[in-house]
Amino acid sequence: MIETKQFKDDLLNWFHKNKRQMPWRETSNPYYIWLSEVMLQQTQVNTVRPYYKAFIERFPTIESLSEANEEDVLKYWEGLGYYSRVRNFQEAVKEVHHSYHGVVPDNPDDFKKLKGVGPYTNAAVMSIVHNHPIPAVDGNVLRVWSRLTGNDSDIAAPKTKKLYEDELQPFVEEHSGDFNQAMMELGATICTPKKTLCIMCPVQKHCYAFANGIVDELPVKKKKIKKKTIDFNVLYITNRSGEILVRQRDTKLLNGMWEFPMFEADESIHSIEETLDAVIDIDQTPEYTTKHVFTHMTWNMNVYRAHTQKSDFDYPYKWIKKEEKEQLSFSTSMSKIFNQLNG
Ligand code: SF4
Repeated sequence: MIETKQFKDDLLNWFHKNKRQMPWRETSNPYYIWLSEVMLQQTQVNTVRPYYKAFIERFPTIESLSEANEEDVLKYWEGLGYYSRVRNFQEAVKEVHHSYHGVVPDNPDDFKKLKGVGPYTNAAVMSIVHNHPIPAVDGNVLRVWSRLTGNDSDIAAPKTKKLYEDELQPFVEEHSGDFNQAMMELGATICTPKKTLCIMCPVQKHCYAFANGIVDELPVKKKKIKKKTIDFNVLYITNRSGEILVRQRDTKLLNGMWEFPMFEADESIHSIEETLDAVIDIDQTPEYTTKHVFTHMTWNMNVYRAHTQKSDFDYPYKWIKKEEKEQLSFSTSMSKIFNQLNG
């Protein structure tokens, strides 16, 4: 059983002396803090820094983001991945603009109803900005708490998360923002998944895993389902004027991003021509092969140069000049293909 007051004092003293400087820690603007939490989902602090800075320079207010066009917003997210995050964020910000007079709700019950605001984002933003007593439990905190308490339940199971939230509740009754951030900081810098720095840990004396020599055995996490791999043929189709054919995705993954037309590798040329309603002259061999790894699947992509005489394509297809590529949002994998073929 961890002694609440002593543990919290040890953790917060360490946090106040050692916390890393981050631009979103130097503001009390809820819009900026919220943005940082959205960007930090699945993404490292150092990757986020330049994106955060550029984003708030371009969209400094709730109003400016809610009035921006989506293409422009996606440009400022390009390379960060998980694009549904920014789409949901803009939707939510629009709602704040229209339904809350441009003021981010300070009530967790309202805030968590906004699009894309899950339990973790709600807890993090509401505790950091307003000290609402809600424990913020993400993967980092699950790991740290599992070690501290010596709990070997599967941290991927919802009931483990619920148990940890209940156990952490007494710790966030006061100074919840600092406590939540301190736990995250401990998980990110000391109580890391590998090469754990127990020797430098400010709460070592409270830790069950350390005392019992089982740090490397915790947390327990059920094996992930094997990633799916899909083979695609990507067609870099040009016309007589050197323009390139692109299309906009209308799918859950990378929705709204532009790409070069791609087809599952077992799709015949006949069926591709039918889809595009055009005669396509495709090179016999791929220009090169590449892959893109998502969290849940991998794309193997054979990239072919191709040509067509057809001049008019309807949306979601369109011809663009090479110079126009920068005006559209392409996923990282498509930008790499473009650079490879035009390098
Ligand atoms: Fe994590 Fe080690 Fe600290 Fe325990 S002593 S909380 S395992 S860093």
